[in-house]
Amino acid sequence: MNRDISALSDQYFDILVIGGGIFGAGVVRDAALRGLHVGLIEKSDFASGTSSRSSKLIHGGFRYLQQRDFKLVFESCGERRILQRIAPHHVRPLPFLFPIYKGGSLSLAKLRLGMTLYDWLALYRNIAPHRTLSAKRALEKEPSLSRHGLRGAVMFYDCQEDDARFCVDHILHAGELGAVCLNYCALTGFVTREDRIVAARVRDEVGSCTSEVTARMFINATGPWVEQVRALSPFDGDATRLSPTKGVHLVLPRLTQDHAVAFQSRSDGRVLFVIPWGDYSLVGTTDTEFHGDPDHAHAERADVEYLLAEVRALFPDAPLSEAEVATTFTGVRSLLASDVSSPSARSREHRVVRHGRNLLSIVGGKYTTYRAIAQQAVDAAVKILSVTAQPCRTAEVLLPNHRPAPTGEKISDSPVVYVSDITHACEQEMAVTLSDVMRRRTQLALSRAGGPEIALQVARVMAPLLGWSSDEERAQFERYAEEWNRNLP
Ligand SMILES: Cc1cc2nc3c(=O)[nH]c(=O)nc-3n(C[C@H](O)[C@H](O)[C@H](O)COP(=O)(O)OP(=O)(O)OC[C@H]3O[C@@H](n4cnc5c(N)ncnc54)[C@H](O)[C@@H]3O)c2cc1C
Repeated sequence: MNRDISALSDQYFDILVIGGGIFGAGVVRDAALRGLHVGLIEKSDFASGTSSRSSKLIHGGFRYLQQRDFKLVFESCGERRILQRIAPHHVRPLPFLFPIYKGGSLSLAKLRLGMTLYDWLALYRNIAPHRTLSAKRALEKEPSLSRHGLRGAVMFYDCQEDDARFCVDHILHAGELGAVCLNYCALTGFVTREDRIVAARVRDEVGSCTSEVTARMFINATGPWVEQVRALSPFDGDATRLSPTKGVHLVLPRLTQDHAVAFQSRSDGRVLFVIPWGDYSLVGTTDTEFHGDPDHAHAERADVEYLLAEVRALFPDAPLSEAEVATTFTGVRSLLASDVSSPSARSREHRVVRHGRNLLSIVGGKYTTYRAIAQQAVDAAVKILSVTAQPCRTAEVLLPNHRPAPTGEKISDSPVVYVSDITHACEQEMAVTLSDVMRRRTQLALSRAGGPEIALQVARVMAPLLGWSSDEERAQFERYAEEWNRNLP
């Protein structure tokens, strides 16, 4: 798929989607599958916001049982099943251990009760029901877990995916279905007439030109930016108010053999995860108030120290100094405004809100339920537009696998990346910057291979494909290196 800015002009879309995270990507694919004429603009790269910075779990969210959010858990378990079916190459079963230690506020009996409810809300159709393990058996499965005070563990299943790739694959499929999707195109304003938006003002961040894009309906799927984008319209604002929180992950050398580990933090009782990621483990996440610009969220020293202290207590024999942290990544949760003071207790529910005649905003939500949220948004748009469209098909139509068979020279062994992956990203997947390839078309930036040495090689491969001069190649490298350094602890 080529990045062709002229494809936006002279169009009258049924729907223009603003935001190329998983919600926007889900909406554009859903609408294209229903035969609607649909476009999508993203101010930066696809998935560059929250949708490449999640814990990468497609999960029922057993933590929300504590908040008695049974509806959300039930819906998430159903979506987990659907996503395994439509994208088995992305959404893979992941076995978890939840060890219980003496002195924690959560007992083995209470956890077993919660997990019975979790199986029940999944209608007993998860990969396997949970199992209780003795301390001995838990240590056989994951020998590096702390044995001090270990009472036993519960084993259960959720799923894992590569959030950035999954999102990009939705965009690519929507493009194949006839949608016009463009990265590096920012919405800068709306042209309105009375209570209706007639066009979006769009700035091409690559070519620096501006244009107006007309559509009958506009869907604001900009996650943590949803209030900012809504405020570009003259319509009411309260319904898009957020209580955002920041979540930090550390990328550490692999800590477990085969399992992810969910555990209760010793300092504040929150549930944290250690998730296998190739030769690494993702450790997270924090959940703290965030009032800044989502473009500039990053890990603070206190975030790194909190996560390292927790994981050291769980894996006492692992060498876990700050120098072992390969990198960090940070996302902003767009949570519905709430008076709940504890960030972790805030609802992950979503709303589709209408402003004026033809602007819809998606507020709140979680990655796991993106498909159902997109369906709800497209259903609302179809109803308001009174157009004839096919019914939603995203629960049945397989998501194609867009990754080419690897050939040629290897750039990195861990993660495995070939030169052909980079060529494909530039020629077929609208990669525009070095960061797009390092972070969102490959997993290089979530490992030590994301450092300057390999980034230089990747830039060298990209330069002739994207027509970069040597000055541009150097500028791309410097921008990426700055981003890489910002994410070091
Ligand atoms: C730390 C953390 C861990 C998480 N873990 C999980 C998990 O394991 N499982 C799960 O189910 N959920 C998880 N979530 C939640 C999940 O990641 C989010 O719900 C989801 O990614 C939100 O997607 P989105 O498309 O709404 O937002 P985003 O991915 O942020 O996309 C919004 C897009 O809008 C673009 N945009 C903004 N302004 C404009 C503009 N003016 N013009 C054009 N484009 C614009 C942005 O650049 C951005 O790409 C986690 C969230 C966080 C923060």
